[in-house]
Amino acid sequence: MRITFLGTGTSSGVPRIACDCDVCRSTDPRNHRLRCSLLIEHDGRALVIDTPPDLRTQSLRQGLRRLDALLFTHAHADHLYGLDDVRCFRLEEREPLPCYADARTRERIAVVFDYAFRGGHPSSVPQLALHDAETPTTLWGLPVQPIPVLHGRLPVLGYRFGRFAYVTDCSAIPPASMALLGGVEVLVLGALRHREHPTHFNVEQALAAIATIGPRHAWLTHIAHDLDHEATEACLPAQVRLAYDGLSLELEP
Ligand SMILES: [Zn+2]
Ligand SMILES: [Zn+2]
Ligand SMILES: [Zn+2]
Repeated sequence: MRITFLGTGTSSGVPRIACDCDVCRSTDPRNHRLRCSLLIEHDGRALVIDTPPDLRTQSLRQGLRRLDALLFTHAHADHLYGLDDVRCFRLEEREPLPCYADARTRERIAVVFDYAFRGGHPSSVPQLALHDAETPTTLWGLPVQPIPVLHGRLPVLGYRFGRFAYVTDCSAIPPASMALLGGVEVLVLGALRHREHPTHFNVEQALAAIATIGPRHAWLTHIAHDLDHEATEACLPAQVRLAYDGLSLELEP
């Protein structure tokens, strides 16, 4: 399977609107971060985790031609509000797009995108089928294990696919979820900045979690404008790198 980071930025994206800091003005493309989304390609299918407001730009930039399912981590605006744009995929298909999310996120989708469930034409209204993501499932032979974590006080989901796991907005990983991450070889974990934050791991907290989980490689995502790519990577252990938009990795499932 192949994973591609469609976006690696925090909720505002980087550069941030109306900010003149060094990272926002940087010419290093790795400091240009759209909101977080991950593409997983496996067995000829395309699975996307979260639909940020940048999804249209990300789909065009990536040359994405198909979309077979969506997984959601939670319903915050930076992970959800691009969902309308999925109507441009699958126009010729009769089946609605499977969307896997926890109960809280499914409720939000049904409210925010209420028009999608009233039978509009597929070219103007996304055709969605909501499914429970809280129990493990299999998509095209790919095992999908939900990993419950805390994002401040909000319970959200990360996902494990065999030897790979993706956990973005996270400030605490409960012991049972630590156990679910045991033996994972490649881990993507959110790390906002160096300063502490009430609802996100900072770099130091993410490194501590990575040290406990012990993956062979870890990639940090959901990155704020506080972190310059090159300067931050210089301070990280060799097996931990900062993800960047467009980064693609070929993984054993
Ligand atoms: Zn977020
Ligand atoms: Zn800035
Ligand atoms: Zn969030």
